Amino acid sequence: LFAGPVDFVKGVVAMDGLPGADRPEVCFAGRSNVGKSSLINALTGRKGLARASNTPGRTQEINYFALGDQAYLVDLPGYGFAKAPVAVVAKWQALLKSYLAGRQTLRRAFCLIDSRHGVKPVDHEIMTLLDRSAVPFQVVMTKADKLGPNAMQPVLAQVETELQKHPAAFPQLIVTSSDKGQGIATLRAIIANLD
Ligand code: GDP
Repeated sequence: LFAGPVDFVKGVVAMDGLPGADRPEVCFAGRSNVGKSSLINALTGRKGLARASNTPGRTQEINYFALGDQAYLVDLPGYGFAKAPVAVVAKWQALLKSYLAGRQTLRRAFCLIDSRHGVKPVDHEIMTLLDRSAVPFQVVMTKADKLGPNAMQPVLAQVETELQKHPAAFPQLIVTSSDKGQGIATLRAIIANLD
């Protein structure tokens, strides 16, 4: 699945802009700066694919990437960005809700959690929305290289405790570092095996 071409398809700002639901897709969600662009770039092996720093004006778009003609990778806008105006946040939340509840071909959401920070209240909110939308989700820990092995254990325990509150959550966490390549092959294999 990841051996072929990967292309940016479009940025979507409203439900009627979504590409045809003709293939399976997975989406990536996380707080701003969690390392989402870096992870998508590492997964696809394409450095400039997802903007490594979020370009102003494009941050509220749902960005679609095509893995050949077989699947879509969907980059949801980073959330918890305090500077966004209230009206913009409200519009984005409405789109997110419609997308998660209505996208038949969405197979799994990956919730990215910064290994240094653990689950924050906004992450809890997204996970709750995923529960309500009946979208199975899996947590991906990012930037694992920034933590020593002893520091990781309590964070993983905190995340695991959080996941027990969420019926839509897979218990298995994927620990990644886009910088070091850790966990990237595992995540690719999980995506490739969804059908
Ligand atoms: P996004 O806002 O979620 O798309 O986050 P980015 O991918 O732009 O990453 C935010 C910051 O974290 C950037 O400075 C990245 O270089 C850094 N970063 C992302 N992934 C990693 C990682 O695996 N390890 C380290 N050390 N830094 C990372």
